[in-house]
Amino acid sequence: MNVKARINELINIINKLNDEYYYLDNPSVSDQEYDRYMQELIDLENKYPNLVKSDSPTRKIGGKVLTNLDKVIHKTPMMSLGNVFNEAELFNFDKRIREKIGENFTYVVELKLDGLAVSLIYKEGNLKLGVTRGDGTTGEDITENVLTIKSLPLVISENIDIEVRGEIIMPKSSFLKLNEERAKKGEALLQNTRNAASGSVRTLDAKVTASRNLDAYLYHLPNLNKYGLSTHEEAMKYMMKLGFKVDKNFKKVNNIKEVWEYIEYWTKHREELPYDIDGIVVKVNEVDYQEKLGYTVKVPKWAIAYKFPADEVITRLKDIFFTVGRTGKITPNALLEPVRVSGSTVKKATLHNEDNIVLKDIRINDFVVVRKAGDVIPEVVGPIKEKRSGGELPFTMISDCPICHKKLVKKEHEVAWYCLNPRCDAKKLENICHFLSRPVMNIIGFGDSIAEDLYNFGYLHDISDIYLLKHYRQQLFELEGFGEKSIANLLKSIEKSKGNSLERVIFGLGIPKVGGKKAKLLAKKFKTMDNIINATEEDIADMEDFGPIIAKNIIKFFDKEENIQLINKLKSYGVNMSYLGKEGNTALKGLNFVLTGTLKKINRLTATNIIDAMGGNVAGSVSSSTDIVIVGENPGSKYAKAKKLGIEIWDEERFLREIEIEGE
Ligand code: NAD
Repeated sequence: MNVKARINELINIINKLNDEYYYLDNPSVSDQEYDRYMQELIDLENKYPNLVKSDSPTRKIGGKVLTNLDKVIHKTPMMSLGNVFNEAELFNFDKRIREKIGENFTYVVELKLDGLAVSLIYKEGNLKLGVTRGDGTTGEDITENVLTIKSLPLVISENIDIEVRGEIIMPKSSFLKLNEERAKKGEALLQNTRNAASGSVRTLDAKVTASRNLDAYLYHLPNLNKYGLSTHEEAMKYMMKLGFKVDKNFKKVNNIKEVWEYIEYWTKHREELPYDIDGIVVKVNEVDYQEKLGYTVKVPKWAIAYKFPADEVITRLKDIFFTVGRTGKITPNALLEPVRVSGSTVKKATLHNEDNIVLKDIRINDFVVVRKAGDVIPEVVGPIKEKRSGGELPFTMISDCPICHKKLVKKEHEVAWYCLNPRCDAKKLENICHFLSRPVMNIIGFGDSIAEDLYNFGYLHDISDIYLLKHYRQQLFELEGFGEKSIANLLKSIEKSKGNSLERVIFGLGIPKVGGKKAKLLAKKFKTMDNIINATEEDIADMEDFGPIIAKNIIKFFDKEENIQLINKLKSYGVNMSYLGKEGNTALKGLNFVLTGTLKKINRLTATNIIDAMGGNVAGSVSSSTDIVIVGENPGSKYAKAKKLGIEIWDEERFLREIEIEGE
């Protein structure tokens, strides 16, 4: 495609996306994807200035102005912000500033709240008008709606005429509540807090706005000289004095290094905020310098928005391959052109199941959007159909197991295909890895790749062989990554796991649909493995949270001779088969715990399981009923709150001492 045609194509795409986002509050692509189209257009326009169109979206602010609301012309244009996406671009922004105004200035850094901009006009101290940004020149009159936002003062502390600007947002808690209500009514869920806030404000029915629990923070005072102020920091403080809510996390800093430290801090801590932010705004503090730096048609040159790294990226899907899980479940996966997402390189991503691929029409050779959210395995969100060139291959599901080649079957009411061959090699290895994992037997020092090596070298055939590894001490030395100390630790951890309570062993057996929670209920009720083996289908089906299908699975599992033999082997190697839960070990009985920060030796899930097993409770937030807060590295605000309330604080070592477990 030639450059001119691509520019036209990008303009059409961006205009369509702008309509969806600003006008309909219903975007069809992620912000990162939108930013990529925009960046491609900016790059092409910079390279070919003669092809720049006067109505290019790179020169326009926002989208169409909603026709149903009255229009209002802004006295001073409401501008957008330029973007930077990494440290190098940020330092370049700083370089440009210093070239123009020298070194004698400061920055103010602020959280970039993800909502919609609003201009508020007060006459003689009374709120008279609320207007959206619109296209920057003309906005929509949303006065009736802003009057319902409780944190916006109707009257301010001085009897003056003033315009202030800020962001209307929907706090995360309001968003969750709203979506819960919509789910109950069978209505479509809202995508994110930004669109939810925008939709709630740009409505003709102020009752809707009132019901949405919106909030508003101020961050800009136009023409601040009029009030005898000369810096943005002073303006923020003045707005607070007038009675406006200003986000208190803003900070004056002396140089770009300190700006970067602020960004690094909030990159790590943004999830702890009660509202969503999509970046950090950096502003030159002194208004004289702001004026000297000036504006483009769209953005001020004295400010920039640093956008957090993409958790969604585009790459090519090179192939689809299949893996077999512990229960025989077949998962299709994408082999990707390696791509960086959320700070790590991703080569594979899950495609979930056949229906998902067919529904989204994902094809081999497609460009696809890949997402990584938190610690979740990366997933393919969907294909970018506009990028197809004709060489894409439609997906076909396999009919045989990729490992043992037995026929796959589909269970009733399930989308997944299964390999039901109990001797399928893939399943056995998965079973072993599951048994070793922290939430199950918590055998430390035994990664999946070591299990794979031991399995391939013939030391592990099933989970019981783990307890025979002590006889292969010498052979273990031959494995990569093993030394005297790591082998000693591994064997110690294996021995220790023999004392685990019954529920961990049940969970480790891999009975279909029996996860950690169900395993615990079984252990609690039946107390010993033998009692479970001898239980009837009715005994189990009658239990709360169980039912006929799970009961059948359990009975079927214990009906198989090979499974009983496996349990007998485990018993003979000394693995405990009794429930040691609350009745057994009640050291933490009745105590309410809260965890904060990163624990180094055991992870949070294990810590939670241990507290639970010893009779304690774990809550998500600190309150007056909290007894003990366990504090790891880089603790969050819970730590400060605990100190304030005088609650007992344990570090990780203390916790391990109390429960008599040494970490790794
Ligand atoms: P922007 O949202 O990137 O930045 C400008 C806005 O930031 C301001 O108008 C203001 O509302 C807000 N802001 C929040 N905190 C602020 C603070 N402390 N100081 C100053 N401003 C603050 O720019 P934009 O022009 O509103 O929107 C462009 C962005 O919107 C794109 O980069 C993209 O992320 C998103 N978008 C997405 C789609 C899509 O289809 N997904 C379409 C259009 C736009």
